[in-house]
Amino acid sequence: AAKEAGRNHFCYFTPAMQESAENRIYLANDLRGALAAHQFLLYYQPIVDLKMREMHKAEVLIRWLHPQRGLVNPAEFINIAEETGFIIEMGNWVFNEAVKQVKLWRAKFDPQFQISVNKSPIQFRQRMGNQDWLERMLEIGMPKGSIVVEITESLLMDVSSDVSDKLLSFRDAGFQVSLDDFGTGYSSLSYLNKYHIDYLKIDQSFVRNLTSGISDLALCKAMIVMAHELGMKVIAEGIESELQRELLLAAGCDFGQGYLFSKPINADDFEKLFQPKVFNWPELTRCY
Ligand code: C2E
Ligand code: MG
Ligand code: MG
Ligand code: MG
Repeated sequence: AAKEAGRNHFCYFTPAMQESAENRIYLANDLRGALAAHQFLLYYQPIVDLKMREMHKAEVLIRWLHPQRGLVNPAEFINIAEETGFIIEMGNWVFNEAVKQVKLWRAKFDPQFQISVNKSPIQFRQRMGNQDWLERMLEIGMPKGSIVVEITESLLMDVSSDVSDKLLSFRDAGFQVSLDDFGTGYSSLSYLNKYHIDYLKIDQSFVRNLTSGISDLALCKAMIVMAHELGMKVIAEGIESELQRELLLAAGCDFGQGYLFSKPINADDFEKLFQPKVFNWPELTRCY
């Protein structure tokens, strides 16, 4: 009867969906072995000081080099990793790699260098998703501000867990906190001064429409003013054009990240960016 209903009335499970569901099962299976098989890669994307034209920060972004599928982007596997719980193990690996990298780059190129690591609410809610990070940070005595944890709005609205205490313990261990994809959640703003947040990242959807109408420019300006009033620095995501950069700089935005400066790149390529101390973006735009 269900089959009939599906055929005659509405089709809620199309062949395309079937394929993607199968796809997800295969990916979920493959993910389990991916860490041991060294199939994960880390890319780094510069975060640029818009006013000083300098680069002292990067965000680490995971990639999966699948033996059959090639390079798989996180959009295709982060959800699956969250659903299967694998995100904890994967996230801990990313964190440990980022710690090694920031230590090396601080010693070799830039004593104030900082790396941001993404952390999904799933990771944050579980003890195992936090314990390793806190212990490791204290154990190796990383200078304050070496690592930034990027969280999302949905975590802050989560009343069931002790988010505030957890964020404090991260802060005590020397982490800074960044609020990623800001403006895309359906939240009220009242949570913003309940927590200590160092950086607010304006989501790329606002930056994308910056030049196509006045409304998104108004929204960006409002977010920047509000963040500054609350003592946060602002990072704009997804800057692809010179005009977007100029508008954001004029609006008082502190930092920018986007293809205009550089796409996410591997550690070897990233090291080349340290060479001219002042981050020279017109040159970089030509490179990528
Ligand atoms: P996100 O944290 O918001 O990262 C920014 C995303 O925007 C990255 O996508 C980056 O490649 C992309 N991006 C940066 N500049 C531009 C631009 O100018 N134009 C456009 N169109 N895109 C730009 P990516 O690397 O595919 O990552 C997607 C998401 O996957 C991330 O969004 C983050 O939520 C998640 N993710 C990535 N790595 C990790 C990780 O290690 N752990 C966790 N939990 N999540 C991760
Ligand atoms: Mg992020
Ligand atoms: Mg983001
Ligand atoms: Mg995102």
